[in-house]
Amino acid sequence: MRVEVLGVKIDKSSMRESVEYIQRAIERKEKTWVVTANPELIFAAGADARLKQLINRAQLVTPDGIGVVWAAKRLGYPVPERVTGIDLLEALFPAAGENKWRIFFLGSKPGVADLAAKKVIEKHPGIIGETQHGYFEPEEQAEILERIRKFQPDLLLVGLGAPRQEFWIASHPDLATVNIGVGGSFDALAGLNKRAPRWIQGVHLEWLYRLIKQPQRIKRQIVLPKFAWRVIKQGKKEEQKHTRRSR
Ligand code: UDP
Repeated sequence: MRVEVLGVKIDKSSMRESVEYIQRAIERKEKTWVVTANPELIFAAGADARLKQLINRAQLVTPDGIGVVWAAKRLGYPVPERVTGIDLLEALFPAAGENKWRIFFLGSKPGVADLAAKKVIEKHPGIIGETQHGYFEPEEQAEILERIRKFQPDLLLVGLGAPRQEFWIASHPDLATVNIGVGGSFDALAGLNKRAPRWIQGVHLEWLYRLIKQPQRIKRQIVLPKFAWRVIKQGKKEEQKHTRRSR
């Protein structure tokens, strides 16, 4: 069951259901693309029909952030909770360790994916990992694709930044069983970007914490009020349609 937020179809799965879905896909070797949709990505999809179509083709689209949870509720189809990229990864790693998944970490600055993979594997030693940074030249891509193919990942994590990573995954759908666009998650896993303390996450102010720590994010977060306004407009339009129909 999906909720449409500004034309992007978001799944109503909880964190647990999302993890189970991905686990099942890996066990059955079913090609699966997971998008963690934050308000910035949904807003960008509103202005880019191709991006919207791509996202709507993904098998699982999770509500990444409290803004999307709010939007779904406002539109009358609440989702159970936020399922962010980094939380989803943390929830998947125990199963990955137990089942010896092969995970390819692609993205972020040189050295970061290596450090992230090292830390993850230290904690979950069953995982078999391989890495590549995300600042390669176009002429290096063929070789990187070949390395990924040879590695035969169960899970390919692509942290090239949204929406580039979504376009990248869509152009290379057959590299792994499950593909997930993970944004800046490797920076967090490597310990470079500290996450907000739990209590701040609990009161849904992680976005504010990140903004204070990285003021340059204001450029991105400036779309949040615009996102909220569009959602309110969508809600009003749907209400009007509903009243017209019920007259
Ligand atoms: N990134 C990359 N290659 C690029 C541009 C960005 O690997 O050419 C990485 C960057 O190092 C960072 C991530 O993409 O790790 C940023 O993604 P995004 O802004 O979507 O992350 P968020 O902060 O929203 O999780």
